Amino acid sequence: MIVVFNTLSRKKEQIIPVQDKQIKMYTCGPTVYDYAHIGNFRAYVFEDILHRFLEYAGYHVIRVMNITDVDDKTIAGAVRENLSLNQYTQKYIDGFFQDMESLKLKKATYFPRATQHIPEMVELIKKLLAKGHAYEKAGSIYFRISSFPDYGKLSHYNFEQILSSQTDEDEYEKEQAQDFVLWKGSKDEPFFWETDIGKGRPGWHIECSAMSMKYLGETFDIHTGGIDNIFPHHENEIAQSEAATGKKFVNYWLHCAHLLVNGEKMSKSKGNFYTLRDLLGKGYNPIAIRYLLMTTHYRDPLNFTEKSLRQAENTVSHLQAFYQRVCFALKKPGMENKEIEIFIDSASKGFYDAMSDDLNISAAMSEIFKFISNINDFFEKDMISAMDAKKITKFLKKVNEVIEIIEPDIEELSEDKISLIKEREKARKEKDFKKADEIRSYLSTQGILLEDTKYGTRWIRK
Ligand code: AMP
Ligand code: ZN
Repeated sequence: MIVVFNTLSRKKEQIIPVQDKQIKMYTCGPTVYDYAHIGNFRAYVFEDILHRFLEYAGYHVIRVMNITDVDDKTIAGAVRENLSLNQYTQKYIDGFFQDMESLKLKKATYFPRATQHIPEMVELIKKLLAKGHAYEKAGSIYFRISSFPDYGKLSHYNFEQILSSQTDEDEYEKEQAQDFVLWKGSKDEPFFWETDIGKGRPGWHIECSAMSMKYLGETFDIHTGGIDNIFPHHENEIAQSEAATGKKFVNYWLHCAHLLVNGEKMSKSKGNFYTLRDLLGKGYNPIAIRYLLMTTHYRDPLNFTEKSLRQAENTVSHLQAFYQRVCFALKKPGMENKEIEIFIDSASKGFYDAMSDDLNISAAMSEIFKFISNINDFFEKDMISAMDAKKITKFLKKVNEVIEIIEPDIEELSEDKISLIKEREKARKEKDFKKADEIRSYLSTQGILLEDTKYGTRWIRK
């Protein structure tokens, strides 16, 4: 049983999919006017862990992540650089996919782009017009929120709060200030589409309703985003979709808290942001960034500091070194140790139970660290055989399908480096420590760290 905190009910609820063993999930993706910052990636890493854990638990996940490639900022960028919208956004779309790879984010099944789904949006708006949930004013089309009594059910805002929070530049054209724009009529804008509902371009919210329902159906399981998406974006998605179909749009809404810098939300507008590229340029390991972003529970705010990133780097190399230690034992003869299996079963159950409880990653990781410490005790007693090591690596690889922190393919060292390590071992035995240190220093300049144990010398990548 997997339980998640549903923003809609503000309670933890068991996930019961619309269709047995299949989860349909929608994620609000990037607006591609610039490179994403690591605040955005906190949301994408949380969604990645959710996606991966659902698969780990045996569900077939069909996932959509949209790409917003038309809005005020993308238009402004294209105009500034004298490019078409596609030319301008392609660079950031490519950059986003590269960043996803660096952070080992699993690909969604579909990455629909707003500009390629204008007909679907127009159809949805036509439906809303026909049912009286939308109206036209001066070439633009608005959603009439007074026609949708459930408005506010996600954000739990009341009507007065909504009234005071909605400020659209063309407010005076609307019947009510809270109504939001579905279609922006074009007067003399550089980019527009000629459609049945007039010349113009979509408002921001409509793309997510049109594209999610196209790929996932009118009712689907999970919708995610950061908490800033709850209102107005997700509230508006519910209104548009449910008013059009008369059906419940989404069963479980999951939102992550923000990545903060000095207590404030990391955002482009505040200028307090790092892109992933900024951090990689400073030499940080992308896997440590992934680790840092994932290990605070997704509903707790996470304050970003470079110090915490350096700590994350240590933890990540500790995990990798342990994995390598186990791999080195894969060739070691000896008896199977029954206790190892008991540790594996207990860690495996602990990990699963913690993650099933609203993705309690801290508890899940502490199961793994407890496991590592238990196995290390056995290593110290030289009680890990090849048969044990095989079971341990299998377990770690399985957990890694969710966390993606360990590099499972251990590289083979070149012959010359292996013979240097052997030469150093020989020098140590002969008490020629000067030579042994020289070899150690040389290998260190090649990015290889040596660790001398009772049972020989092991190496790890720095
Ligand atoms: P945007 O490009 O602003 O629409 O944001 C893309 C995604 O990143 C959305 O799910 C936002 O909720 C999320 N997001 C933006 N800033 C932060 C932040 N500082 N911390 C966590 N998530 C964020
Ligand atoms: Zn969205």
